[in-house]
Amino acid sequence: MTRYVDIHDMRHLIRQLGAQRMTREMEACIREDFLRWEDFQKSARTANHSKGGVIELMPVSDSKLFAFKYVNGHPGNPSVQMSTVMAFGVLADVATGYPMLLSELTMTTALRTAATSVMAAAALARPDSRSMALIGNGAQSEFQALAFMDRLGIRELRVFDVDPMATGKLLANLAPQIRSGALQVRRATSVREAVQGADIVTTVTADKAYATILTADLLEPGMHLNAVGGDCPGKTELEAQILNRAKVFVEYEPQTRIEGELQQMPPDFPVTALWEVLAGRVAGRDDAAQVTLFDSVGFALEDLSALRYVHRLALAHDVGREIDLVPTMDDPKDLFGYSLQGADTARKAA
Ligand code: NAD
Repeated sequence: MTRYVDIHDMRHLIRQLGAQRMTREMEACIREDFLRWEDFQKSARTANHSKGGVIELMPVSDSKLFAFKYVNGHPGNPSVQMSTVMAFGVLADVATGYPMLLSELTMTTALRTAATSVMAAAALARPDSRSMALIGNGAQSEFQALAFMDRLGIRELRVFDVDPMATGKLLANLAPQIRSGALQVRRATSVREAVQGADIVTTVTADKAYATILTADLLEPGMHLNAVGGDCPGKTELEAQILNRAKVFVEYEPQTRIEGELQQMPPDFPVTALWEVLAGRVAGRDDAAQVTLFDSVGFALEDLSALRYVHRLALAHDVGREIDLVPTMDDPKDLFGYSLQGADTARKAA
């Protein structure tokens, strides 16, 4: 039987365990897998582009587990009451190909993206970072804010979105943290105002365009940039000049060269693999004044880690249900016979 976890099951888990705890535990799973980087069969995702968006498939495996995610990116969707990013995925047993888990991945993607962002920032940002600018206050933003509070000790947030309603929604969702004094949030009137004096800058906007949310004149010594929204050919957030002024870190280089901020640079532009920093093989930040940039696009391995975490949680908390996604047969060669089984019962019931 295949375990099926839908969006309501995931909401139940988040309400029960809390987004911060789940992000923390998911980060541990992602880190574990990044430290086994060379064990995985990897590829850049396949992407089918259309005028308004993209639909992507993201496979990855090691000798035991295979995973894939279906995910879209349609920045115009909120205007028709749909999410910009929606996803689901499968975790399967490599030995037999049996699908062990079919899961929602829309909320899980928000958790895993925040988990990857803080995993990178914990390795690359200045340890004394306490303030963060959060540009783009849509679906991903609260997950990012809470993760940076919890994991990096961010205490001051400066928020900006071209849509004031999105910022209003973010402030309402962070009201408990603001009321308790754990977080100060300043509503900025421009990107410039939000970014000035910030230790970390997270850009998580959605626009299918070569956008320049951040320009090089806004950089300050020692900043860490967590660039999340530029994740598709023709969809970027940073002025190219920023990459010349920063040390650039990537997930899976062949994919980032196609999809990340990196698409703006020549093919031999130097980058550092995040997994090698985590493994202690290469240096991360070189000094306190250096600008570091995590050019995040979202890599399949993060989803495999997230799926195995969701599978573990679903079994431990008895969340979701078992479904017959594939047949279980007395004679696996008799698929035709199996197709006729239960016909009498079905006819009688009708
Ligand atoms: P969303 O549509 O819910 O929110 C995006 C927000 O960006 C909106 O509120 C919009 O008004 C705002 N925005 C657009 N242009 C802006 C600008 N110029 N200045 C300030 N704000 C602006 O989308 P979401 O689900 O929050 O996703 C945000 C982005 O993150 C998308 O581009 C998505 O593709 C990307 N994403 C990346 C990863 C990753 O792993 N790197 C994972 C998930 C999503």
